[in-house]
Amino acid sequence: MSNVTLEQIVSLCKRRGFAYQSSEIYGGFNGVYDFGPLGALMRRNIKDAWVQYMTGGKDEVVLMDGSILGPESVWQASGHVEGFSDPMVDCLECKKRYRADDINLEKACPHCGNKKWTDIREFQLMFKTELGSLAESATTAYLRPETAQAIFINFKNVLTSSRVKIPFGIAQVGKAFRNEITPKQFLFRMREFEQMEMEFFCKPEQADEFFTKWVELRKQFFIAIGITPEKIRLREHEADEMAHYAKCCTDVEYEFPFGFKELEGIANRGNFDLSQHAKHSGKDLSVYNDETKDSYVPYVIESSVGVDRLFLTLLFDAYHEDEIEGEKRLVLRLHPRIAPITAAILPLSKKLSEGAEKLYRELKKKGVSVQYDAAGSIGKRYRRQDEIGTPLCFTYDFDSVDDNNVTVRDRDTLKQERIAIDAVPDYIAKVLAR
Ligand code: ATP
Repeated sequence: MSNVTLEQIVSLCKRRGFAYQSSEIYGGFNGVYDFGPLGALMRRNIKDAWVQYMTGGKDEVVLMDGSILGPESVWQASGHVEGFSDPMVDCLECKKRYRADDINLEKACPHCGNKKWTDIREFQLMFKTELGSLAESATTAYLRPETAQAIFINFKNVLTSSRVKIPFGIAQVGKAFRNEITPKQFLFRMREFEQMEMEFFCKPEQADEFFTKWVELRKQFFIAIGITPEKIRLREHEADEMAHYAKCCTDVEYEFPFGFKELEGIANRGNFDLSQHAKHSGKDLSVYNDETKDSYVPYVIESSVGVDRLFLTLLFDAYHEDEIEGEKRLVLRLHPRIAPITAAILPLSKKLSEGAEKLYRELKKKGVSVQYDAAGSIGKRYRRQDEIGTPLCFTYDFDSVDDNNVTVRDRDTLKQERIAIDAVPDYIAKVLAR
């Protein structure tokens, strides 16, 4: 097990083009990040894996894409205008701002060493804006702080416009925004981030059973995409820490270098959200039960995970340092489906570019995420690919010209095998299906 630090992850991300501080050339933008070529590929793999897992199971789950801007009425009904805030406190000396539940107010300010605090105030976490050009008729709107509400307000639309029947789920991947008081730990707590949320609608009497089922399924998802099972734990919320809407809540936690922290939340939200939106909009959001011949408001099981927090978790989990023939190596042991690059094509000599490039182009055409690298010694090229988690390297050598074979080298076992060039696509497909 590696003892990787946050600094090592940040440095790798910048060095190899996974993630950069946003607006870096203007001094940086706190709590906001941009993703480079490898980061963009890896995020897409994470989202694809999630969508496939959520929609490919036994229970029916459909997708939707909601808007980011929402009118004030939505956020009033959901309780966010009133209650989506964190307690904030400022140091009167150095003016540094903290989340009051993050520090010990009995002690001095960790920044300047003085102990002069303001009163604790509630800080609204939603970004507010206005729609329309005329000040007097402008409408207040908010950037969504979670994707879930778009699912609740479209519940009836989806139910009546598609062939789904209760029980079923609606899943969504999209941006969310929170004006976090103290964004920190890199991608762990950001102001602009992306969420993958699923709301599963069921009869009230089925809710406990589905809650238990989804907790287990969600844990299995993280294991399926390669996270070390021993670093994952499930933690049930105590009654006093539960969100106002939740009947029960379990977090999937991961053991980060800064301790076990929430990776995903799974909650039985009861019928709170649909009832609130029915009340505030005046629209009937209940469904008819054919068996009992009466109407009811469905219960909802929610699962919610941040793309960026999962991205960071995967990097922490995959980061390893080992030694090969006396030489240190940094290797990202990412699951092949998550790794940004699946295969690298390495010609042993620049003279071999014709055949090697042909293989590279063929794989690209088939949609394989592939890199071509002809620079430096073969050892150096392996190290470059190990560092970004590429599971397979194919070396094209002088024999390849005549025998149409290449040598494939496995990132983790370091095993090398000679295979026919024609067999390369199938070989890659098998590794991706692991
Ligand atoms: P926390 O207690 O850490 O503030 P929360 O309980 O408010 O989080 P939820 O509202 O349950 O978080 O959000 C669901 C998921 O979205 C989290 O488990 C996390 O993966 C992700 N997430 C929430 N806030 C952030 C953020 N500021 N930056 C990155 N990811 C986030």
